[in-house]
Amino acid sequence: MAIYDNIKALRASLPDGVKLVAVSKYHPFERIVEAYEAGQRDFGENRPQELQKKVIAMREWLGSRGLEDDVRWHFLGHLQTNKLKMVLPYASLVQSVDSLHLLQEINAWSLKNNIVTDVLLEMHIAAEESKQGFVEEEVLEIMFANTSYRGVRICGLMGMASHVDDEAAIDADFSRIEDFFHYLKDLFPELECFRELSIGMSSDWEIAVSHSASIVRIGTAIFGDKE
Ligand SMILES: *Cc1c(COP(=O)(O)O)cnc(C)c1O
Repeated sequence: MAIYDNIKALRASLPDGVKLVAVSKYHPFERIVEAYEAGQRDFGENRPQELQKKVIAMREWLGSRGLEDDVRWHFLGHLQTNKLKMVLPYASLVQSVDSLHLLQEINAWSLKNNIVTDVLLEMHIAAEESKQGFVEEEVLEIMFANTSYRGVRICGLMGMASHVDDEAAIDADFSRIEDFFHYLKDLFPELECFRELSIGMSSDWEIAVSHSASIVRIGTAIFGDKE
């Protein structure tokens, strides 16, 4: 019941055009079903094996009810190149491409398997050293070379703000990636799919929405704390 109410409340607060990804990582499949029954169709996972298991469970659950599979899975975690086959056939968007090597491997795997993989480039925007992701110069280099990646479509940017209770710091993080996102959109108008800015989690999605977020990724505020 709580999950249903949380989703309804979030949907009512999010502006039109902002996609809600329910981050279901670490939560059992039954909770994903509850969210599905509240109308939720986009889910986020951060571990390859768990993603694969849940996708298959969801297909079975939907199939046994005669329903079509209309769920979109987003991969959000660190992805090792030896795990691509557990993720790329299932994820409709890989949001966490954080190295050139990973991008190249996703491209090669996709070409070999005759698919095109939609990805976001994960940027390092937080003040903390530990956060992974590209800096602006690296993203620019990739964007200028985008026509050489025919197995991937670069659909936008993803970022995580600093883990601080300081709203001004979060605001500054999001403001920077927002500016860079608009700059790239203007620089590459021919890249039609480049329109997603994935910023904002349970504690900072309202700030993210005020900075042009097109996707928010919300776990705790939907599913509660991890078990
Ligand atoms: C876990 C996770 C989220 C959701 O975080 P909450 O604070 O639980 O909303 C969002 N994005 C990424 C990349 C995550 O790993």
